[in-house]
Amino acid sequence: MSMIRLENVSKYYKSEETVSVGMKKVNLEFDLGEFVAVTGESGSGKSTLLNVISGLDGYEDGELYLFGEETSHFTISDWEKYRGTNIGFVFQNYNIIDSFTVLQNVLLALEVQGYDPKTRKQRALELIEKVGLLSHKNHKASKLSGGQKQRTVIARALAKDCPIIVADEPTGNLDSQSGAQVLKVLHDISKDKLIIVVTHDYDQIKEFATRKIKMHDGEVVEDKKYKKIEDVKEYVAPVPQKMSIATLLRFTLRSLFSTPKRLIFLTLMQMIVMIAFTLSYSWREGQIRDINVQQSNRFPNVPVTRLLVERRDGIDFDADDLEYFENIRFVSKVYEHGLSFYNSLRLYVFTDENIYDTGIYKYYNSWQPVSGTDAAATLSNLDIDGTLPVLANEIVIGHNWTNYKVGDEVYIGTASQYTNPNVNEDFVGKFKITGIDKAKANILYFTDAFLDNPDIEQYSIDGTAKNNLIDHINWGMTFTYDSNQYNINRGMTDQSGIAIVFNADQAGTPELLEIKELSFTGFFYNTSNYEQSEELTITVPNVSIYKIGTFEPYFASMSEALGTYLEDYVLDELEHFYKVENRKVLSLSVKGINDGNKAIDAINQDIYRVIYPANIPNPGAGILAFVMGLFTGIFIILFGLLLYSIVHAVSKNIMKSRKKDFAIFRSIGTNKVTLARLVVLEQVFIAAISAVLMFAVLFILSNYVASIYEIIQFMEFTDYIMLIIIFLLFGAWLGLRFNKKIFRQSVIESIVSSREE
Ligand code: ADP
Ligand code: MG
Repeated sequence: MSMIRLENVSKYYKSEETVSVGMKKVNLEFDLGEFVAVTGESGSGKSTLLNVISGLDGYEDGELYLFGEETSHFTISDWEKYRGTNIGFVFQNYNIIDSFTVLQNVLLALEVQGYDPKTRKQRALELIEKVGLLSHKNHKASKLSGGQKQRTVIARALAKDCPIIVADEPTGNLDSQSGAQVLKVLHDISKDKLIIVVTHDYDQIKEFATRKIKMHDGEVVEDKKYKKIEDVKEYVAPVPQKMSIATLLRFTLRSLFSTPKRLIFLTLMQMIVMIAFTLSYSWREGQIRDINVQQSNRFPNVPVTRLLVERRDGIDFDADDLEYFENIRFVSKVYEHGLSFYNSLRLYVFTDENIYDTGIYKYYNSWQPVSGTDAAATLSNLDIDGTLPVLANEIVIGHNWTNYKVGDEVYIGTASQYTNPNVNEDFVGKFKITGIDKAKANILYFTDAFLDNPDIEQYSIDGTAKNNLIDHINWGMTFTYDSNQYNINRGMTDQSGIAIVFNADQAGTPELLEIKELSFTGFFYNTSNYEQSEELTITVPNVSIYKIGTFEPYFASMSEALGTYLEDYVLDELEHFYKVENRKVLSLSVKGINDGNKAIDAINQDIYRVIYPANIPNPGAGILAFVMGLFTGIFIILFGLLLYSIVHAVSKNIMKSRKKDFAIFRSIGTNKVTLARLVVLEQVFIAAISAVLMFAVLFILSNYVASIYEIIQFMEFTDYIMLIIIFLLFGAWLGLRFNKKIFRQSVIESIVSSREE
């Protein structure tokens, strides 16, 4: 039984218009021990014959028997197995991985064959010695001469101990001296093997060949055996092993790091893309959070970077309390006068443009309330144009007041309108803008020099809050009399003194019913979402109660004096609560929402009450949050796919340069599964490296750039894990797509086309 037998084998190359004959009705047999020279002029079918024999390409007619077995029913994996275990290739263009060293190129073949890791290096070195390249073992293939490359390829072809070596014009590109060397090496290893060498220069090979086959127009026109073949050992096909995981990993790393420029480029690209995706992902987290929480109306200006704390026992803070808060890891600074105006009042900015001077009166009108205030200490130079403020009368202002410039001076007040104000009392003060916050709108940043100053006393309470409060006293108070509850309006009666009058709209003389203590209740603040929404109860002694007429009382009015009493009482409370000199509330500066929540967890809630005005849960968020989550989710997915296709398009071009490498892998018998693993693993590795670097970069940046911190602050550990998984999956997906592409071509097609590129 011959090892290889062709019976009337024909091969045609069909293109769209033409069919050309590769070989016609070829009948040949080959056996171990032969050193066959195939000659013939260019185009005579030599390569075709070789490719068919070695299973690199298919055939149309006839039958090819391998080890006596028909091959017309062979599947791709049968061919792979055949090639993998039996065939060593040497091509004219020395298919060698340029980025690998000689040793690595030879090892490659042993690795993909699953050779024992302990002995394979030894074996590779022996083979390299056999081809006379031991002194070059660590040279990069790209630095070798043509002959050296070809000898490396031979060593690689031998590595897997296969019985058949095919060589297609192995000396075609070599000078005659290197050519002779290569042929000698082939001859040296030919014992017990079948060597088939295609050459158009038969003379060069004459001294080694045992047989000469001449082809012409696809047909065998001469087949002569010259030398007697010595007895050969019986061939035992090696059992192919699977590549071990460790080898696979090592292999992947080697091929990644052997082309550092490519690796750096791909990594940088993926990092950028991952940063874009991570930022949009955390942006979404922030969006959803923004819906789920709301700003306390009571503290409209307190930013996410600020917590308020008070002692539950109501006493003033002492040095120990301050130390306690300063020692909390997530608290970056403790502001002692926490509930001063900047935390609680709505502020307005006035410039010369919104101050109208009529000569008699001066009107101050500002329609744009400040949406937040913060300490300038929370800013970095990177966040602003200009400089950070230093003095108490310097500020940084948010960017969408575009008409403000660094150096401008503005007034800041607590109400939107003033007439002829006593600037010392009604305005917070005059400030100089030293910087513009690039990222955020409508935010004022004050210096610690200003915020720390305990002597700031010139601010009245919030002008808007005050008006609302008086409104409530006028129309919104209730009280209970004879176990009925009544609403009570102010000033609807002429009655003097602390009095209420029933049926005051009727004509008649008020009749005194009794004088007693009454409790009036009303909301302290005019807010719809007042998170500490206890009503304020004010107990007033000696209220004179009148009624007019004979009807049951149904309409109650308070005297102006009672109205003033209640107003003074409430304003007093309010003032006490808001005023700078109040030492009962501390304000803690935190980096953002995440640190804020961690700080809350760290604070002993038995002793302290914590208010996080910018992070009040919004019970009405439900459906809106869901819809928002859905839409932003879809957006993120689409954005991710867009980024992915960018990465794919760019990587695809880069992967093209690896086409040759993959063709080589295939030609040395790397099977589909192994190659797929390699390609996927490579992509997953790149993704992993990129992800790790990306998170490191983001982490470092977020410590220096507040706007980046702001975006990623909502990211939890689980979010990071999820993102890493997504990135790795994307890497794997990318790899699978490349892999599919690789296998769309036959080995020979990919070798030929990679040669052309
Ligand atoms: P040789 O190796 O002896 O130069 P080949 O086996 O490469 O010859 O080619 C034999 C014939 O088949 C030639 O006529 C050639 O043009 C044709 N041929 C070879 N490969 C292809 C191909 N991929 N597509 C079309 N025709 C081909
Ligand atoms: Mg050829």
